[in-house]
Formats: sequence, structure tokens, C-alpha cells
Amino acid sequence: MQIGANKVVTFHYSLRDDEGKVLDSSEGRAPMTYLHGKGNIVPGLEKALEGKQGGDEVKATVPPADGYGLRDDKNIRNVPRRRLPEGKLQPGMRLHLRTEQGQGVVTVMAIKGDYVTIDGNHPLSDKTLHFEVKIVEVRDATAEELAHGHVHGPGGHH
Ligand code: ZN
Repeated sequence: MQIGANKVVTFHYSLRDDEGKVLDSSEGRAPMTYLHGKGNIVPGLEKALEGKQGGDEVKATVPPADGYGLRDDKNIRNVPRRRLPEGKLQPGMRLHLRTEQGQGVVTVMAIKGDYVTIDGNHPLSDKTLHFEVKIVEVRDATAEELAHGHVHGPGGHH
């Protein structure tokens, strides 16, 4: 079965930067599972996997624009401490936030008095991503998975 819209794909992967440093990998863990065509993985990798099938090995080099985006200084903001979750904050901490713009993860950069500087840029923004993927399995998505836009069962939601 080939990867295309509405297929559920299970794969092992490693992700390296330009210097060959491993940024992320499924080695020693359960493989990753996603619903294809719904933007559940970075666009460049989704494109590279299109048409592939179980057992295929895929190498993909994904530029930042098709990966985690380009760094934008506008994503660095000062926000009142009270608008952030309770608990001790430290520079480098990552927080899950819900804002008017939706939800996302930000990194705490600095704390000054009643204000906290947060960086909403993805830590992998501006990076060219070098993926090595081994596709384990491709199957049809269930009606429920399509309705939710994500995978259920092992490696998925719920
Ligand atoms: Zn669901």
C-alpha cells in the first residue's frame, strides 16, 4: 500500500542537523505513527514520504521553510508573569501555552520583575533537517481517525 491522503503511516526515523548531530530519533522507542495529508508532521517530510510504501527507506533533506519555519524576532515577547502557568520559571524552560493565536510551546528566555521574556520560535526553526526514515507499515485510516484528523491506537491519541 502506498502512502497518500488518508493513509496511516508507521515509521522509524532519525533526524540530524547539517553537522550530522542527531536531534531526534525513534531508535530504542516505538516507531512514530501519523495520519498522512493532515499536516501532522513537517510539510517537507510529508512530501518526501508521498508514494512510498512499507519497507522503503527514505532520505529527505528538508529546508527550514518546509520544516519548523524561519526564526522570527516577532515571536519573542515580554508577557506579564501572571499570564503564564504557576510554578517556578527558569530560563530555558519550555511551556505549553494557550493564547488568542492558538496553542503552542514557548521557551522562557529571561525573567525580569513582573515580566517574562518568552520565545515562541520552534527550537528547530532555521535548521535544515536531514531525515532518515524506514517505513514500517502503511494502512487505511479509520472513519473516526479521518474525522479527528489524527491517529488512534498505539502511537496515536486517546
Ligand atoms: Zn481522536
